Amino acid sequence: MTHGGDTIFGKIIRKEIPAQIVYETDRVLAFRDINPVAPVHVLVIPKKPIESVAAAVATDAEILGELLIAAAEVARQEGLEPGGYRVVTNIGADAGQTVFHLHLHVIGGRPLLWPPG
Ligand code: AMP
Repeated sequence: MTHGGDTIFGKIIRKEIPAQIVYETDRVLAFRDINPVAPVHVLVIPKKPIESVAAAVATDAEILGELLIAAAEVARQEGLEPGGYRVVTNIGADAGQTVFHLHLHVIGGRPLLWPPG
């Protein structure tokens, strides 16, 4: 099993700090965002410490696919499928990325504005 790097999410992967985990496989972990922006706000992360989509390489293709499949599974679990939901990933400072361990935000449970601003 691959362990996370030196970010807060690495600590969550290694179970050094608590998180409300909602989904877990050998390679993927999903847990509730500590500062939710909607009734459902779950972060889906690879256990491999990739900084962001921009840092992903060709050999990460399979895990990137697994993240999207996991995001859809989490959304189903959370009852978001009928109404719809958003999956988003922030890359770098202008997008507001604050944790440099790749994560998909699964957000739903209320109407979502587009464009996000
Ligand atoms: P981003 O701005 O895309 O990098 O998103 C980072 C997200 O991680 C934010 O929505 C934070 O609220 C969330 N976050 C930071 N620390 C924790 C934590 N310990 N447990 C759960 N979510 C966290």
